[in-house]
Amino acid sequence: MPNSLPQPSATALAALQAAAGADWTRDPDLISPRLTDWRGRFAGATPLMLMPRDVETLAAIARAAAAHRVALVPQGGNTGLVGGGIPPADGSAVLVNLSRFNRIRAVDAAGQQIVAEAGVILADVHDAAAALGLRFPLSLGAKGSATVGGLAATNAGGVQVLRHGTMRALVAGMEAVLPDGSILHGLSGLVKDNTGPDIKQLLIGAEGTLGFITALALKLVPEPRHRAVGWAGVASPQAALALLGQLQRLSGGQVESFEILPLDGVDLAAAFLGQRPPLEKPAPWQCLIELAGPQPLDDLLAEALAGADDAVIAQSDAQALALWRLREELPLAERSAGPAVHHDISVPVSRLPDFALSATSAVEAAFPGGRVIAFGHLGDGNLHFNVRAPRGNGAEEGSAWVARHGADVTRLVHDLVMQAGGSISAEHGIGVLKRADLARFADPAKLAVMRAIKQALDPLGIMNPGKIY
Ligand SMILES: Cc1cc2nc3c(=O)[nH]c(=O)nc-3n(C[C@H](O)[C@H](O)[C@H](O)COP(=O)(O)OP(=O)(O)OC[C@H]3O[C@@H](n4cnc5c(N)ncnc54)[C@H](O)[C@@H]3O)c2cc1C
Repeated sequence: MPNSLPQPSATALAALQAAAGADWTRDPDLISPRLTDWRGRFAGATPLMLMPRDVETLAAIARAAAAHRVALVPQGGNTGLVGGGIPPADGSAVLVNLSRFNRIRAVDAAGQQIVAEAGVILADVHDAAAALGLRFPLSLGAKGSATVGGLAATNAGGVQVLRHGTMRALVAGMEAVLPDGSILHGLSGLVKDNTGPDIKQLLIGAEGTLGFITALALKLVPEPRHRAVGWAGVASPQAALALLGQLQRLSGGQVESFEILPLDGVDLAAAFLGQRPPLEKPAPWQCLIELAGPQPLDDLLAEALAGADDAVIAQSDAQALALWRLREELPLAERSAGPAVHHDISVPVSRLPDFALSATSAVEAAFPGGRVIAFGHLGDGNLHFNVRAPRGNGAEEGSAWVARHGADVTRLVHDLVMQAGGSISAEHGIGVLKRADLARFADPAKLAVMRAIKQALDPLGIMNPGKIY
């Protein structure tokens, strides 16, 4: 697949503007905030940003783009971490901002579903579900900006995957505009529908390369009557996994989240937030645990945590929130603490403890001074395995260290991940960042099928060129 299409002509841009009606801008002040990704790693350019608000207009845009061979880059909240929503730097693509697809179209309390347009912010879906006494069980640190369209396009995970799965498991139906401008109508949210392959699943995780997601029927679950949130210190990731197993057995599978953080990550997040670390004893590994169910769960959590080195159980919603903030703000705290080489990897859950320790030793030995900070979703086998520049380096030297060693660090980490039977992208996707690694590591048969699907749905290469394939 080509990385980009030729620069759009003035005629092509005029045709796209006409298709968008009044919903476009060429004002650099409005466009430029959307041309850099959240981590500031990718910078793009575009002559035009389209901001359609309905599916017919978006279909007309897709038809105009196909007629004039203009590349289109979908963008939601721009919180993606692999550069997938950033147009190429050569200005050859037009940015399609989906934030005006911002309506909740329907709620169905009996069927436990909500139909949200692609640009609806995740936190707003949470609020809409709560108004029904229900819950959309996917949450992540970027919930105030990430859109449901972007979440589906990246098959996002978050902190409740352990119990409720990723977006793939939570989408009951989809409306989408395909690259040729045809509209996929699939919002009925049928629980059972065995009429051939499930096309919506092709667009989930495709990062905008197979079409525009315009609306989703999302599955909701009942609001649990009781929650228990705790924080525990343990000696090792092995002890953390054992604790998770014990909690699952004791609770009959009511563990909603189980996150692991190393001590320096806890200290970093606490300092960033101006909060005290939750534990008196500085345990080397710390776990954030949430249980949810129909019966009070504090006693059960206390029983499981009795064997931990040190533990606290939140006594109020405010305390639970404070514990969760430490985890959710850690990526921001880490970003503000200086440059690092980031990895979002997964290995089989049972192998994660050994991987966390052995990969840390291997990386720190190969890159003296580099400091691994590995945290994340232990219950999903998913670690954010980041390698910070040596201590004492200022921002400039740190960036130089990352620029000098970043590619080699990533090569080593991804090699170790593959040896452990893992994945180089657990939840953030491929985008631009991991494209070369995907080509290097993916099963050739899988890659061939992915490319064949892309060719079949988007033979002109209009949708998000230079991403994934
Ligand atoms: C602080 C922070 C914490 C995060 N935590 C997590 C986490 O725990 N788990 C996790 O999985 N991710 C996490 N992320 C990553 C990010 O939030 C997700 O990737 C999110 O799904 C992106 O949504 P968005 O609306 O911002 O999409 P964007 O960043 O705008 O786009 C992401 C990709 O989706 C495509 N896209 C966007 N909208 C559409 C659409 N309507 N149709 C087709 N394609 C589209 C874009 O082209 C791009 O390829 C985190 C990010 C941040 C900044």
